[in-house]
Amino acid sequence: MTRVKVSEIFGTNVFNDAVMRERLPRPIYKALKKTIDEGLALEREVAEVVAAAMKDWAIEKGATHFTHWFQPMNGITAEKHEAFISPTEDGRVITEFSGKELIKGESDASSFPSGGLRATFEARGYTVWDCTSPAFLKEDASGVTLCIPTAFCSYTGEALDKKTPLLRSMEALSNQAVRVLRLFGNSEVKRVIPTVGPEQEYFLIDRELFLKRKDLVYTGRTLFGAKPPKGQELEDHYFGSLKERVSAFMKELDIELWKLGVSAKTKHNEVAPAQHELAPIFTNVNIATDHNQLIMDTMKKVANRHGLACLLHEKPFAGVNGSGKHNNWSLSTDNGQNLLEPGKTPHENIQFLVFLCAVIKAIDIYSDLLRASAANPGNDHRLGGNEAPPSIISIFLGEHLTNILERIENGVTSERQRGEKLYSGVSTLPLLRKDDTDRNRTSPFAFTGNKFEFRMVPSSSSVSDANVVLNTIVADSLKEIADRLETVNDVHEEIKWILKDIISNHKRIIFNGDGYSKEWLSEAEKRGLRNIKSTVEAVEAYITKEAVELFSKHNVLSEQELRSRYEIALETYIKRTNIEALTMIEMSNKQIIPAVIKYMNEVATSLNQIKATNLNIQITEIEKLVIEISETLNTFKIKVLELESLTQSAQKLKENIKEQARYYRDVICKSMEELRLYGDKLENMVDSKIWPIPTYGELMFFI
Ligand code: ADP
Ligand code: MG
Repeated sequence: MTRVKVSEIFGTNVFNDAVMRERLPRPIYKALKKTIDEGLALEREVAEVVAAAMKDWAIEKGATHFTHWFQPMNGITAEKHEAFISPTEDGRVITEFSGKELIKGESDASSFPSGGLRATFEARGYTVWDCTSPAFLKEDASGVTLCIPTAFCSYTGEALDKKTPLLRSMEALSNQAVRVLRLFGNSEVKRVIPTVGPEQEYFLIDRELFLKRKDLVYTGRTLFGAKPPKGQELEDHYFGSLKERVSAFMKELDIELWKLGVSAKTKHNEVAPAQHELAPIFTNVNIATDHNQLIMDTMKKVANRHGLACLLHEKPFAGVNGSGKHNNWSLSTDNGQNLLEPGKTPHENIQFLVFLCAVIKAIDIYSDLLRASAANPGNDHRLGGNEAPPSIISIFLGEHLTNILERIENGVTSERQRGEKLYSGVSTLPLLRKDDTDRNRTSPFAFTGNKFEFRMVPSSSSVSDANVVLNTIVADSLKEIADRLETVNDVHEEIKWILKDIISNHKRIIFNGDGYSKEWLSEAEKRGLRNIKSTVEAVEAYITKEAVELFSKHNVLSEQELRSRYEIALETYIKRTNIEALTMIEMSNKQIIPAVIKYMNEVATSLNQIKATNLNIQITEIEKLVIEISETLNTFKIKVLELESLTQSAQKLKENIKEQARYYRDVICKSMEELRLYGDKLENMVDSKIWPIPTYGELMFFI
């Protein structure tokens, strides 16, 4: 076993601050740093020098190509590789990479979803360097490529990607948070940066078995599969010791990620069999989002090398836990103060309470938007299911913090309760103790001591959407607080009233109980909290009047951009569900039905032979079995025909995308569920040697 020193390999493939400091002339380095730290525009001369240094560094490390690396709205990362070469007049080539090539790329945008933003005659899109996320080298069998993180927009400047709105939302949040800090008398902080640490869940299965399942290959999830004798009921997988094949995978994954500067920190088994998790150390939300894309890519690549397949789908298997991302989110000042960390002094605590209440208000007012940000077709199968957060948004604060808020609401500011020390401070608010959060695993949005953990995020999606919403809605709350504080003389007195108002108006969103329980469903309804079960319903939140106002007020997304995102979400839902339906039909007709007929034939032949012996052997139960199989098979085929005809009818609704999406959700999905029921019943009746696709037991336990 080769030993690896993390410190020696960490960040070796990243054009990071240390490399820049070493390779760039001092004034250029300073200019670039200023651009990065203060979000200024990059000067052309600076770009030229940076490009040259970046190229030399990359070529020394074996790179032959560069690519603008971007995240179009379909959620993947896109790359268009270009060689570092330019022809010379005498027929040779020289390596070249200009400032222009670094800063801006032109890309045919027509093959990426734009939701009607890009008129067909204007197919050009631009990629623009995001110098706040460092360039890196991607190494694989095909060679080494310099990847330059970029934003992607249309010719007319509309965002066509996941990065642009994220950067805009960071700006919006920073502006408003700094305003609030100024009112608190803080004149040093220039920027406030959302920090994120996304925990990534995934499944690992044997690659050969994976390739035998068309549903996994085409759709990422199993569309058939009878329950195996063993599931997750023994709870023997969570934090269990790692199988050698899995730990070899994880080790290589860590090394690949460390080279890319991704601080992969924890890894462990998750609740479901074959389910695992990786968590990096948190960092600024833009980099965390890029890193999460790299984590997903690298997981798939490394899994292949180990004869494994990595499943990032939210619900690859029915009946056991699905996968998500826990988006740990907080706010940090540019001098490193966590604004969601309860402080040591009463002054710090009031500031903490203001930011905490700003979040509470934001989540309560815009819970539908937050829900929409976590909507994808895969998550429809996960949310509200086995151990997944329910589809209702609520906030877990823990008893202690909830009590404090109650007391603020009631105007009680200082007392002793259950032996806890509560000091009344200069501003008559109690001092908080750190680490006072009980662990509640059932809440979709939990305060965990010094950050919030949003647990609804789909495992396969970019974390951008969730953070764009979080940043923007909190920016809006902070704006209202700042607006109000700016009009008064006694800021501290006004803060008390602001907190009191927020708590009494928005406390319904706080829920510390069991989010998986049935009682919560009715309790939430009583409180007027919505339970939005499907993507089709959820994404409506993006185009409401309130959402349009909110996102344009903070310059995060225009009405047109929101509309395009809404349409893409519905289109994606329709396309993905359609692929699932077609995959089921194909598996049914080409694999399941022929296998069952073969089995029936074998049994019938054997029965005839047994009868021919005239030995009076008892076979009535077996005869009944053949009849039952034949009846089930017949119904199965009827269901296949039904699904086929329904998918054809769905095509007729093309003109109205909303109606078509609803049809897929209500009619096609239901038909698929019914078909599956009969398919799984057949699986339980047929000889396992004849069953044509690997079973759940094999997929989850044979690794
Ligand atoms: P768990 O939720 O599994 O108990 P931890 O609480 O240790 O795990 O952390 C989960 C994730 O939260 C990690 O990625 C960690 O880096 C991240 N995290 C910790 N502090 C912050 C913060 N201030 N802002 C954003 N993420 C954070
Ligand atoms: Mg967690």
